[in-house]
Amino acid sequence: MEKPFWKTKTLEAMSPQEWESLCDGCGKCCLSKLEDEDTGEIYWTSVGCRLFDAATCRCSDYINRLARVPDCVGLTPSNVRTISWLPKTCAYRLVAEGRDLYWWHRLVSGSAETVHEAGISMRGRVSASETDMADPEDYFDHMLADEPSARIEAPRPRLHAGDSRSPGLRPWNRHGSEAFGQAL
Ligand code: SF4
Ligand code: SF4
Repeated sequence: MEKPFWKTKTLEAMSPQEWESLCDGCGKCCLSKLEDEDTGEIYWTSVGCRLFDAATCRCSDYINRLARVPDCVGLTPSNVRTISWLPKTCAYRLVAEGRDLYWWHRLVSGSAETVHEAGISMRGRVSASETDMADPEDYFDHMLADEPSARIEAPRPRLHAGDSRSPGLRPWNRHGSEAFGQAL
């Protein structure tokens, strides 16, 4: 049996269609993050990008997203190897690291629903939109202990406006792949 393309091709060698199909539709890359300006450490939040549709778990204006959201970063074969915040489950990261896709990836399961059924996606798990955040401190109520996992969250880190580290935290927003949100 012939091996699937993600096991035989490098990211650079993939066709545009193969590249697009690699996105699992988890939506994690569309969450806002906070960056500690002193240490560079990234903190996850459950705040969604202004264009993220939490019900469908898709970008609501994928075609125009880069114009409408300047800090939405289109993923490329080059930058998926260097972006530190890319989710551990992201298919682009997995392939770049020479690893296989998980069972719930639609290319493996044959269904776009399995990423949701497995509890990997952010469908129904976004607590607020960035449009609701008036101040950087507003993000603190939505901080996660780590990258969202399969619906089992560790306690949130205790960071508040009065903490010594918090003044250095600033929103460092999410990013979308070239593929995310496209009808595949
Ligand atoms: S690009 Fe985003 S939505 Fe697509 S697999 Fe990676 S993290 Fe998930
Ligand atoms: S793809 Fe970009 S613009 Fe669209 S929801 Fe995700 S981060 Fe926002």
